[in-house]
Amino acid sequence: MRTVTTVAELRTACDEARRAGLTVGLVPTMGFFHAGHRSLMRAARDACDFVVVTLFVNPTQFAPHEDLGAYPRDPEGDAAVARAERVDLLFTPAVEEMYPVPGRTTVHVDGLTARLCGASRPTHFDGVTTVVAKLFSITGPCRAYFGRKDAQQLAVVSRMVADLNLAVTVIGCPLVRDPDGVAMSSRNAHLAIDEREAARALSRALRSVAADIVAGERDPAAVRAIVLDAIASEPLLTLDYAEVVDGTSLEPVTRLSGTVLVAIAVKVGATRLIDNARFTFAGADQRVDGGPDVLVDLGFTCSRADARPGDS
Ligand code: AMP
Repeated sequence: MRTVTTVAELRTACDEARRAGLTVGLVPTMGFFHAGHRSLMRAARDACDFVVVTLFVNPTQFAPHEDLGAYPRDPEGDAAVARAERVDLLFTPAVEEMYPVPGRTTVHVDGLTARLCGASRPTHFDGVTTVVAKLFSITGPCRAYFGRKDAQQLAVVSRMVADLNLAVTVIGCPLVRDPDGVAMSSRNAHLAIDEREAARALSRALRSVAADIVAGERDPAAVRAIVLDAIASEPLLTLDYAEVVDGTSLEPVTRLSGTVLVAIAVKVGATRLIDNARFTFAGADQRVDGGPDVLVDLGFTCSRADARPGDS
């Protein structure tokens, strides 16, 4: 694995790979790697000839009062993980390299970014789409890999790619959970033991929702009430939102049909956590004989060996 820190080196390496006929796969990250990140690297490794991982804690997606300074970092550990996952190129730019002058151009995806996390983080997604557009422009990837853990980010980036006719296929990868059910996140490193225990309420709520939906529940308000109850039962959790939305438009649904996302965000202490589950409802004409009428996607649980020490 080669590590580069400049835009020019990254661009040249990707140009050379493409010129040699290799497909370039891009995995944008903010580092402090866990099994969720590794699953994206593996998906890219399986499908692409030349795998590029970018590690950049992007300041423009943090509001001034947010946790940019406290964001967990482990550049050496991350390089070792990327090497073990047979990544070809790791890009670790300084902030001044990505933003040599304050940018005057912002990529803004309207509507999708105003809801869910966008309601409490109004500038966040502009930071994400702008830096992702820059990374797409520098690397020219054939495929780019994003986790379903950040379901809204995936929807927003997919919409940006469609609206701007960008020549990249966005691949959504399954949400990876720790053995105790908590969605893996670099920010979990900040959780105290009792906060970690409380954080389990999110996946518990989603599992309970899944059981009710499989048993026939089709009322979004009832689904939302299950989540609200589960969050309210944990005094350490402060609700940001619990919503039942369409998987593509992210608009609230009045019926459970098509692809629906049950999305949750809470604060536990100073740490913000998100989680979600995806449900795909088959119409009467789409059901294969005897098949289920709803597919449940709660992601998957990584093995204990893949869990970060202390995370469960
Ligand atoms: P981050 O470093 O947190 O910005 O995440 C980089 C990429 O990894 C994003 O596409 C995330 O959605 C993805 N990711 C983070 N956590 C998980 C997880 N638990 N499961 C799957 N993907 C994840």
